[in-house]
Amino acid sequence: MITALGGGVGAAKFLEGLSAVIGSEPLNAVVNTGDDITIHGLRVSPDVDTVIYRLSGHVDASKGWGLKGDTFKCLSALGRLGGETWFNIGDSDFATHIYRTHLRAGGMTATETASKIAAAFGLPANINVLPMTDDDVETWIQTPEREMHFQEYLVKMKMRPEVKGVVFRNIENAAPAPGVLGAIREARGIIICPSNPIISIGPILGLGGVREAIRESSAKKIAISPLIGDMPLKGPADRLMKGLRLKVTSVQVAELYKDFLDVMVIDSQDAHEADDIKSLGIEPLVTDILMPGRERAAALARAVTALL
Ligand code: GDP
Ligand code: CA
Repeated sequence: MITALGGGVGAAKFLEGLSAVIGSEPLNAVVNTGDDITIHGLRVSPDVDTVIYRLSGHVDASKGWGLKGDTFKCLSALGRLGGETWFNIGDSDFATHIYRTHLRAGGMTATETASKIAAAFGLPANINVLPMTDDDVETWIQTPEREMHFQEYLVKMKMRPEVKGVVFRNIENAAPAPGVLGAIREARGIIICPSNPIISIGPILGLGGVREAIRESSAKKIAISPLIGDMPLKGPADRLMKGLRLKVTSVQVAELYKDFLDVMVIDSQDAHEADDIKSLGIEPLVTDILMPGRERAAALARAVTALL
């Protein structure tokens, strides 16, 4: 059994490669829910849906999120009514959020809901998508003006405000979802996906007991850097790391995980960072970590699973 921790797009790309190379071995994907937001009265869980859509072959691969071939009529109709349109939700994607919100209102947990949605999309039976918590945790970004939901910072404000800090609202009252700690304890390998270390992996590791369980697990623990040439491929990892006064390097990412990490996988472009990773007591693996498609993601997954 393998357990992976991740966010949305970066995680989903890697997990698609991983699922292609592990055959029928059980795979738990523990997914960040700090990006979740209530919009138009609907509970949206972007990272969970991104992982489900990609692993079931329904993702819009050109965007990395949303559903293949989706249209946006509902969103423009909402705009005509005076609703907010900055958060892009396609028509079929809306159905997922309506369904989730309805199930949650009826008392179902995030975990149960994700499992129903995953089954409906035809996710392979060996893959278990586990939202990190059944409690509501939200990532908010502190900027000089005010604090805003991460989605507002990312999508509406297009990452323009300066980042002063990151807050995971309600994390102190949240517990890991049922199955998360067991998935960590029982895995032969724990993989930290090439996800944003601050806002995708950070909230998962911030839940009570998760870090300790990873540290104590006898699994081999491997992280893949989301940075290539010390830059994220997409998204605000560099801005958030700078805002928290961290260096934007794979060495720095390794350092964030150094209390539990065995191996840090970095790109050939960043081979010069291998020695500094070694100095942290972490084994570096230098390889090609860009995943422009399924084949390269599978090749990376093969290199990672070879270490287990
Ligand atoms: P999000 O929730 O959709 O932002 O997704 P994640 O947190 O899972 O992933 C975001 C990170 O994925 C970004 O920091 C990107 O740099 C990284 N990423 C995207 N594509 C690739 C890739 O092909 N290779 C690697 N190594 N990282 C990638
Ligand atoms: Ca995300």
